[in-house]
Amino acid sequence: MAIVNQNFLNLSGRYLFSEITSKVNAFQKQNPEADIIRMGIGDVSRPLVPKVIEAMHQATQECSCSATFRGYGPEHGYSFLRQAICSSDYKSRGIDIDESEVFISDGAKSDTGNIGDILSCDNLIGITDPVYPVYIDTNMMTGRKIQYIICTPENGFTGDIPSNKLDVVYLCYPNNPTGAVITREKLQKWVDYALANDCLLLFDGAYEAFIRDESIPRSVYEIPEAKRCAIEFRSFSKTAGFTGIRCGYTVVPRELSAAAKDGSRVFLNGLWERRQSCKFNGASYISQRAAEAVYSPEGQAQITADIDAYLDTAKIIRAAMLEMGLNPTGGDNSPYIWSRTPNGMPSWEFFDYLLEKAGVVMTPGAGFGQAGEGWFRLTAFQQKDRTIEAMNRIIKYIK
Ligand SMILES: *Cc1c(COP(=O)(O)O)cnc(C)c1O
Repeated sequence: MAIVNQNFLNLSGRYLFSEITSKVNAFQKQNPEADIIRMGIGDVSRPLVPKVIEAMHQATQECSCSATFRGYGPEHGYSFLRQAICSSDYKSRGIDIDESEVFISDGAKSDTGNIGDILSCDNLIGITDPVYPVYIDTNMMTGRKIQYIICTPENGFTGDIPSNKLDVVYLCYPNNPTGAVITREKLQKWVDYALANDCLLLFDGAYEAFIRDESIPRSVYEIPEAKRCAIEFRSFSKTAGFTGIRCGYTVVPRELSAAAKDGSRVFLNGLWERRQSCKFNGASYISQRAAEAVYSPEGQAQITADIDAYLDTAKIIRAAMLEMGLNPTGGDNSPYIWSRTPNGMPSWEFFDYLLEKAGVVMTPGAGFGQAGEGWFRLTAFQQKDRTIEAMNRIIKYIK
């Protein structure tokens, strides 16, 4: 008799964005004329930059002749990309990361979800609330205990340092969904906590490229000693529009260890290497050449222009929300703008209201956790003219 993983039966019925899609589709079916503007899902809208396209064409060409054809690549990524990451993302900021500490993958969703494979199911997991649902669902799938770290305007959406011992803590800054960033001082407090409690930090830096404020840390490793307590996840998805191409990476420092049952220490770099080489066969050669092109001078200029354009769109959203009398966070170093709903309306009720009245899709805060109830998220990834149109419509129904 095959028995299911009982933990799956404890998951909430559906992944948040499937729920939204089915609601929007149902509405569109009933109102075929409605011009719906999607300000909800965190997907980019700008096309890949020319330098990336050029690299992909070239890589495709290489695969067309036997002398340069590539089959299986190294499971943890080609050296050309890992080197580019070490020098451009780390060395340039004074952080020493060795190539052997970088693992290329098909994205940060897989890695943040899969990292649990190398960690005991008995760990007590700290997860900020509201949060990217992947951290919660993947831990629930293995039946781990979760302690929520409530993020509010009072703690700058960066959580209060827990008074008890957590074994693993997920942090994501710039944050999805709140758009909040973490200061160096606060990140230092989390690192201090982790080192003092033998706690592993899982730092998701998927939105690092949106940071414009020079005082905000771009990597957890900017904090001294963080290499002894943190794994960092990065992705080309939001940085360079790779949501459809798929490429990301994870840094597992050599000196990072965790306890075995007998109390001895085990290095996590070796465990992750073992896990990846068993269950993962590498991101495609074409994706990795595309990612490498992001680090060329032209590539950098091109993606920076795209992110600047998203940040301009974020400004439009913020300004409109202020005009509505809301008090939004985010949008200055992140593509997300987060706010309480008007008049304390429950999140899903406000979702239906905006969809039906204004034909605008937002993401209900409640979908990101209990602490998100009464909040909503708008994204700056929509095209600029559509965003202006959406905000004009919302203002009409909110004022
Ligand atoms: C979009 C996003 C990612 C990136 O996911 P990919 O699988 O690399 O596309 C990771 N973490 C968060 C919080 C995100 O919002």
